Amino acid sequence: MPTVLITGANRGVGLALARQFLSNGYDVIGTAREPDKADELKAAGAKTMQLDVADPNSIAALKAGLGDTPLDYLVNNAGIASSTALGDLDYGEFEHVLRVNTIAPLRIIEALTDNVAAGDKKVIANLTSKMGSIEVTDAPSALIYRTSKAALNMALRTAARSLAGQGISVLTLHPGWVKTDMGGPNALVSPEDSAAGLYKVITGTAPATELRFFDYEGNILPW
Ligand code: NDP
Repeated sequence: MPTVLITGANRGVGLALARQFLSNGYDVIGTAREPDKADELKAAGAKTMQLDVADPNSIAALKAGLGDTPLDYLVNNAGIASSTALGDLDYGEFEHVLRVNTIAPLRIIEALTDNVAAGDKKVIANLTSKMGSIEVTDAPSALIYRTSKAALNMALRTAARSLAGQGISVLTLHPGWVKTDMGGPNALVSPEDSAAGLYKVITGTAPATELRFFDYEGNILPW
């Protein structure tokens, strides 16, 4: 049975993705900061593991818990928003958002590369955002969030060059504007539709695909 590990799988896009993979017959390991409270994830049939992506010890404990378990897909989904613009920046918040959105996915990739390399599919999928596209961005809002995702995109583009040597493909994905706690009630895409599209893009990836920035419908976005 192919296995997928999804971070931040207790709600939002992560939970919808977990359900999508489960309904297609995958074994899903869903991580949550508080697995005891991840009732919907457990009810869906996922195995849960504890992970606070901002805590290096928690990442090390996840790796220890996984051991050599092969992962066909690793999905770095956990993330946080930040809406502030220049003139109102909180630098403590800036550091925290970078830790969660930019540094954590890399730390998780470094910790779990061997697990992905041991899987059949060898795909590392990462939820970034169109708001991190330098070419698309033309608004003053969410400076910290945009920066964290643009930096993640560059980090992934660079890391993909190293990972290709092990046959691992890296995906950089925009889920759409999704109706979650982060996306808010006015968002245009349901978590289910976003997850269904992301699932197709993630599982349709050919081995060692050239890194591109895709949205949930498979459209290529500008960096
Ligand atoms: P939500 O706010 O609905 O869910 C965020 C998830 O990330 C939760 O499971 C949350 O866990 C987890 N998380 C946050 N911080 C940490 C942490 N330190 N350690 C572990 N888990 C953490 O967000 P979405 O589902 O909407 O977003 C998912 C991804 O998609 C994010 O990377 C986001 O940036 C990206 N995205 C979302 C868009 C949207 O419109 N919704 C648009 C573009 C990109 P907990 O419950 O413990 O807080």
